[in-house]
Amino acid sequence: MRTPRLYTPQPLPLGQTIELEAAAGHYVGKVLRMQEKQEVILFNDTGTQVSAHISNISKKIVRVLISAQLKAPKASLLYTHLGQVMSRGERMDYAIQKATELGINEITPLYSSRCEVKLDHQRQIKRLAHWQQIAISACEQSGRIDVPLIHTPQALSTWLENTSAEVKLVLHPHETRPLEAQKAPLSCALLVGPEGGFTLEEVEQAHAEGYTGLSLGPRILRTETAPIAALTLLQYVWGDLSPRLTEIQDK
Ligand code: SAH
Repeated sequence: MRTPRLYTPQPLPLGQTIELEAAAGHYVGKVLRMQEKQEVILFNDTGTQVSAHISNISKKIVRVLISAQLKAPKASLLYTHLGQVMSRGERMDYAIQKATELGINEITPLYSSRCEVKLDHQRQIKRLAHWQQIAISACEQSGRIDVPLIHTPQALSTWLENTSAEVKLVLHPHETRPLEAQKAPLSCALLVGPEGGFTLEEVEQAHAEGYTGLSLGPRILRTETAPIAALTLLQYVWGDLSPRLTEIQDK
């Protein structure tokens, strides 16, 4: 069995025993049926990653002894923030999971004129916790340590006025510009529309706020496919998928 890798909000002091949170304990004890002395890898928000061994396992409680500090995986050089207009069904879950695997740092769910999702306060809180958990699981699976921040949903105009990044891109099928070769920025904001797309006014407002149009080619991608294609491109030209970077690391 591959050593399970789990996120915890707790500090991870070397040589000490900690109790896993209920959900992690359930996963280790009930789902994986792990035994005493077996190893788990734990990581937290401070960028610490450790190896730990189960010291005590009972019906409800799993305690682990933190045995060694591990080298933490590196984050991408490129800081990315995705503004994704919400669509119905599980499209948002998919976009969050895949964007996390591809190194996204922040995600803001957005409302726009063709957005078909409306969340009241209570549902918004529930959705946010659900999305944050998807991002955590995607980090556990993909070996990432820096869990992306999922913001409270906001209006597209608020996002356009308040989001700052060195390069700001609006994805729109009717734009003709591919990604331009330019000096690698350190940060990039990426705006993706809903199933029905952006209105002309929204695209114009994005341009007025400094967003450059980005085309992902002649085919219309689904709203949840667009961030995957765009992030792959961005990590390739400016981030940690860059052939230039691999050459440097290989030396
Ligand atoms: N019917 C809509 C298409 C929406 S696709 C329209 O014609 O505008 C959903 C979103 O994915 C779009 O708003 C855009 O942000 C992104 N997208 C899909 N295909 C794209 C492409 N080829 N180039 C750039 N962005 C694209």
